[in-house]
This record gives sequence, C-alpha cells and structure tokens, in this order.
Amino acid sequence: MKKEDFDVVIIGAGMGGLITGAILAKRSRMKVLVVEKESKIGGRVMSFGGPHGDFSKEEYTKLLGGASGCWVVDADPGIDKIIEDGLFRNHIVDCGWHGMSAGDRCRYAVMARSLGNKRLHVSPQVGFLYYRDGGWIELKDLARGWSKGSHNERSRIAFERQLMGMEEAKEFYDVDVREFLKSKTDDPLVQEYYETMAKFQFGINDLTRISAGEWIMCNNMTSQTGRDLSTGGGMGDVSGGFKMVANVFAEILLENGGEIRTSNQVKEVIIKDHQVKSVVVENEKGESEQIEVKRLVSSIPLNRIFPLIPEEHFPDEMVKTIKNIYPMPGLLGHIKLKGKIEHEWDKAMFVLNELPGIELRGGRPVYGFEQTSVIDPSRILRDDDGVYLQSWVGVSASDPDEVHDLPLMKELWKKMMDFMRQHYPDFDNMVEWAFCVAAGALYGINPGPGMVGDHRPAVKNPLINNMFFTGDTVTQFDVGSSGAAHGAVHCANAVSGQDHLVLLPSYMR
Ligand SMILES: Cc1cc2nc3c(=O)[nH]c(=O)nc-3n(C[C@H](O)[C@H](O)[C@H](O)COP(=O)(O)OP(=O)(O)OC[C@H]3O[C@@H](n4cnc5c(N)ncnc54)[C@H](O)[C@@H]3O)c2cc1C
Repeated sequence: MKKEDFDVVIIGAGMGGLITGAILAKRSRMKVLVVEKESKIGGRVMSFGGPHGDFSKEEYTKLLGGASGCWVVDADPGIDKIIEDGLFRNHIVDCGWHGMSAGDRCRYAVMARSLGNKRLHVSPQVGFLYYRDGGWIELKDLARGWSKGSHNERSRIAFERQLMGMEEAKEFYDVDVREFLKSKTDDPLVQEYYETMAKFQFGINDLTRISAGEWIMCNNMTSQTGRDLSTGGGMGDVSGGFKMVANVFAEILLENGGEIRTSNQVKEVIIKDHQVKSVVVENEKGESEQIEVKRLVSSIPLNRIFPLIPEEHFPDEMVKTIKNIYPMPGLLGHIKLKGKIEHEWDKAMFVLNELPGIELRGGRPVYGFEQTSVIDPSRILRDDDGVYLQSWVGVSASDPDEVHDLPLMKELWKKMMDFMRQHYPDFDNMVEWAFCVAAGALYGINPGPGMVGDHRPAVKNPLINNMFFTGDTVTQFDVGSSGAAHGAVHCANAVSGQDHLVLLPSYMR
C-alpha cells in the first residue's frame, strides 16, 4: 500500500463530495483527497460546451451516462449531426435541466461566498406560468374569479405556513400534502392551488408521496431568501452552466490543500474490525493502487452503494431505509429555436399539470419548459438570435423500469413536441434541432410507496467508526441539488465534530 497522508478520502466529485471536501479542507484544516471515476468533476451536474470543452458524440454519451445515468432517446436530426454542426461549440448545454431553488440566494451561492469569497451568478426566472384553458396564466391568476372567502383562505394558509418554524414543520414530515391541506381548509379551490404548486416543486404527480413537512420547509426557505416561487423568482439558471457550481467548490478545495483525482474508480473498500482501512482505486489504464483511509466519505447515491459496500456492513434499519429510496426518473428535452416562441413571458418557467395524450403508470406527467438562453444569455456562445429551450417531464418514480421503455419514452417526447406544436402553430418552422435524453435518476430521493417525510439515511454508518455519506440521498431537506449541498454540510459536521451549519442562514439549516 502506497503511504499517503490524507485525513479524509472522498468517493465522488459530485456536489456532495466537493462541498463536503471544501468545508473539511477550509474550515477543519483536513487534508482531503477526492477520487472520481469519471474524467470530469461534477457528477450528475455536467455541462458541455464553452469553458467546459468540446465533445465528440462518444465522449458526450459516456459522460452523460457516467454519474447521471442519462441516455439519448431521440434526436432530430441525429445526435451525431447536431454535435458535428457545433452543439458544444455554440452552446453551453447541461446534462439535463438544472433549475436552482432559491435562485441567486441559494445554498450554493451563500456557501461559495462564506467559504471561499467567490460569487456564483444565478440568472433568475421571473415568472411561473401555469397552463389553463388553452393559455398561460400566473399562478396567482388561478385564483381569478374566486370569492373573497377563497382569497382569504389562500392568504391564511400562506400566512400560517410562514409562521411555522422548522420544529413545527417537522411534525408534518409523515403527513402528505393532500392530507395536510385538507386538515387546514375545506375550500377545494385553495387545496388545488397549493397542490398544483407542490406537484411542480417536487416533480411528482402523486400527492400522497409529497411530505407536507418538507413542502413547508422548502417554501419557507425560499420566501426567507426574499424570493417567491409562485412568481418564478425562487428558481434560476447558473450562468455558464450548472457545472460552474462544481468548479467553484473544487477551487475552494484545491486552494486549501485538497486533491482531486479524476478517472479513478474506487473498486473496493477494505473494512476490518468496524473500521475502513483502505480503498482500492483503479485508474483509466486499469492500474490499481491501495490508499490508506483514516476517514471515508462516500457520495455515491446510497441506493447504489451495496455493490461497493455490502449490506452486511450496515444496520438492518439503515438497509431498509436505503432500499426505500426511489430515484426520480425523467425526460429532458434540448431544443434550439430560431427565435423566441414566448415573447410576453420570456423569462418564465411554463408548467402544464398533465401532458395530454399520454398516460404513464404514475398517471399523466407534469410537463415544464423554459427559454433557457433568454433567462441566461451565456448559454448561446455565438452572436446569433437563436434561442435554446429546455423542457422536462417527470416519469413515475415508483416504477423505475418505465423510463427504460424506449418506445414509450419516444412517444412521451413526441407528446411533448405535439403540445408545443399545438400551442405554438409556428413551432416546426422555428426548430433548428431537438433531442431528448432520459435520466434514470434526476433527484436522488423520492419517497417509496406509503412513505413520506424525512426517511433519508443518516450521514454516518453507525456500525463502521469512520464511514460517512454525503450528497442528495442523505439527511437534508429540499429537492435535488440544493439538498445535496445541505447533506454535504451535515456530513462535514459528522466527520469533523464541528458545526458547519453556521455557514448557512438558520432557515436553510
Ligand atoms: C438530468 C438531471 C436533471 C436534474 N435537474 C435538477 C434540477 O433542475 N434541480 C435540482 O436541484 N437538481 C436537479 N438534478 C439533481 C442534481 O443534479 C443532484 O441532486 C445532485 O447533482 C446530486 O449530487 P450528489 O453529489 O449527491 O451525487 P452525484 O452527482 O451522483 O455524485 C456522485 C459522484 O460519485 C462518483 N462515483 C460513483 N461511484 C464511484 C466510484 N466507485 N469511485 C469513484 N467515484 C464514484 C460519480 O461519478 C459522481 O461524480 C438533476 C439531475 C439530473 C441527472
């Protein structure tokens, strides 16, 4: 075994691994090594083009599939042609649509500033549009024509929710959103209003899977930042591609004596007497080395941990919780248009509650899109008037096989495009190219059947003294990447025994 003197070895250079590593290197003065199996850092957050580099089809599909488990479902013209014609030379494209909750005041931006005095620019969406009766309306306009009583009910619920602190919200962890709303009001209009918002925020059509406690916490966090989800201001796109977030935390880690080794896969974790002793790492040439471990942090999504760290090393209760993790699948569309299709609401996010013409096993899917390059002009590198648009649709999380049904996914993509054609009669003439990718796991966690609330696994393995976990599948609240940042702080606390949550304002902890 090569003698190397790291205080912490971290598996994976995704958001969880990089943030945990940056905190431990900077605030706990630990010597950190991050080993990443892919050739680039970022994990499920991967951007292509511009500063992130040009890619061949082979490199693109490999990286797309790497941590994100995404694959191209359909492309017009073919994906080879789209890439040959300069997809990555002329655009910055993420592996999927990465909206950022709490916009420019998100956890990432706060921590980048407090940890490394660095700025992350997040271009805000300024509208949240909802499809109703053949057109887009603002969420608040769903309430148009309501009686005064219903309006008052809507305000009362919002007010009561905002008065709730974290502890009170946690009491509703195991109550689903529908039950919660029913217990608060008899008004069906008000119930539908908030249900609509919850479905979109969590990307789940089935309300019995959404924890009221988490819904309350996420909404209160966003409003405390001074942003408002119902008008779109609670979301945003990271300028230059979402991977800029990974770059910033990698910089902080490196500036504080850390090291990142890409194209290095951890093949084996050697555990003896309830202690991780070392890891066996293989590089791209197939050469192996054994690295001594004092503390191990894994950022591998916990639902994929057992091939590397077998079940026998976890307590039964933790195994059960891990097996109940349902990663959320989805379909992401990338569409290049000759110009804007939406002029009135150019910086908005457009959401349709139920995409017509297709029934998935979890019901009709939620569909959303945004004109990304209008919101964040850095995404189009060449000075032309084209517009890059991203779309998204959720696939039933309780049935992970469904996303692998290629004919069904092609049909779903067609329905997404059909909707655009129907709503925008000139759509076909506007499209220069379009392709869609399927993702087996967008967000790391989704409650399993009959399971709502924070049933996420802990950041420490109670059976192994020096084994910790980070990322979006561990204890935290929020959807997706913001949750990964939160999990990373919890993990850094457990590793160092210090309180790093002070990096975040109280409403984000
Ligand atoms: C297409 C798509 C769209 C998304 N959209 C959004 C969105 O709009 N908003 C949002 O908030 N979130 C979104 N997400 C979710 C967000 O990207 C994730 O929540 C976040 O990136 C998870 O980070 P992580 O560090 O927990 O995990 P990961 O990014 O999965 O990191 C794990 C890392 O470990 C590495 N690894 C695994 N095994 C090994 C090994 N044996 N050895 C070495 N390295 C290993 C992997 O390669 C990876 O880099 C989206 C995700 C996808 C895929």
